[in-house]
Amino acid sequence: MASPVATQAGKLLRALALRPRFLAVGSQAVQLTSRRWLNLQEYQSKKLMSDNGVRVQRFFVADTANEALEAAKRLNAKEIVLKAQILAGGRGKGVFNSGLKGGVHLTKDPNVVGQLAKQMIGYNLATKQTPKEGVKVNKVMVAEALDISRETYLAILMDRSCNGPVLVGSPQGGVDIEEVAASNPELIFKVCLNSWLPDSQAQRMAENLGFVGPLKSQAADQITKLYNLFLKIDATQVEVNPFGETPEGQVVCFDAKINFDDNAEFRQKDIFAMDDKSENEPIENEAAKYDLKYIGLDGNIASCLVSHLHFTVNGAGLAMATCDIIFLNGGKPANFLDLGGGVKEAQVYQAFKLLTADPKVEAILVQYFLVVLSNCAIIANGITKSLPGAKLKVPWWSGFEGTNVQEAQKILNNSGLPITSAVDLEDAAKKAVASVAKK
Ligand code: GDP
Ligand code: MN
Repeated sequence: MASPVATQAGKLLRALALRPRFLAVGSQAVQLTSRRWLNLQEYQSKKLMSDNGVRVQRFFVADTANEALEAAKRLNAKEIVLKAQILAGGRGKGVFNSGLKGGVHLTKDPNVVGQLAKQMIGYNLATKQTPKEGVKVNKVMVAEALDISRETYLAILMDRSCNGPVLVGSPQGGVDIEEVAASNPELIFKVCLNSWLPDSQAQRMAENLGFVGPLKSQAADQITKLYNLFLKIDATQVEVNPFGETPEGQVVCFDAKINFDDNAEFRQKDIFAMDDKSENEPIENEAAKYDLKYIGLDGNIASCLVSHLHFTVNGAGLAMATCDIIFLNGGKPANFLDLGGGVKEAQVYQAFKLLTADPKVEAILVQYFLVVLSNCAIIANGITKSLPGAKLKVPWWSGFEGTNVQEAQKILNNSGLPITSAVDLEDAAKKAVASVAKK
């Protein structure tokens, strides 16, 4: 049953925090750039939507100001909306480092599209959801603008508390949904779904969103199509804000944000092939090549986890605990790298090459945790081969017993490298922080 979720605003906020994710570490908030979910640009999401019967505006994509101008002419529309393509939301209120304000502009003049695009492409757009310096814009969307008489919010998300997908909607769209959840939680409607969406539920959501008369069944039909798309493409999130109506009586998805479950890559090859990775840090792409999980942070102490418990399971908890403990001891994590349990020496070698090549990394904290699929000695060899020449202190902590842990300890102790052993994670963090402070 659709019901207001006054008591669940917190949960909703967490469920919605899928875009740049913030990890609370000690008293600080650290932005994560995890690649757990594939994100597509708005134009790619809208192409998928339109291919599946969901209504979006006519649009072209442009890489240059000139192409944008040509696209605007070709659209031959009464009014045009020009939109910077970056993965973060809040573009409308964003600012470019070219000085231009707003990542979304409406104009009737194609020449203005060209002029605006010139101040967008190649510049960084900073929004509430990007890092301070913003994200570089490589493409713009040139779309036919439509009048909007009402803006609502609609999303379908994978939600743990529902053990499956949840349909979330609000008649108050076009604004930050987090703010609506905080100020008017009764205006957020949430309904847990099974593997299909009964029409009665789609109709009820349409009604809750404030669609009336013929618009109600049109909105329900769009919701159903969005839900079928969500299932078909193994999405973890389909978010449409605004999900709007026009004075002419059409329900239109004016914005689109789709994230995907990386575990489904094997059966969604076409979609994953669309990942242009241009917004990844180069080091993330490098890490992905060797099947390493990497999260970039701002500090100077790298941490590396070798664990049978992978990131997606308890590894994430260990990552947070490690970052926490570095913070609590007065340090700042530079990143988090997870090698997984079945790691090969070559991967360890690449991992440490990556970490030591990062100019901001001054120390690396290494942990073994339940190494059963691999062999601690293999890991130790990978580490010692990659380190010569690197000016680092490398405290490492041998946590729970793993295969061949004594041998590993010997290899590291006898390596002549600046590796310090630690008795536990706390000790390792203290030593890492101290080694950096001394410099
Ligand atoms: P976001 O700021 O990144 O979420 O980008 P959106 O695509 O949601 O655009 C921001 C805002 O611009 C929307 O909330 C709308 O109010 C407005 N907008 C976007 N497209 C159109 C359009 O075609 N017509 C009108 N009138 N407004 C639009
Ligand atoms: Mn939006």
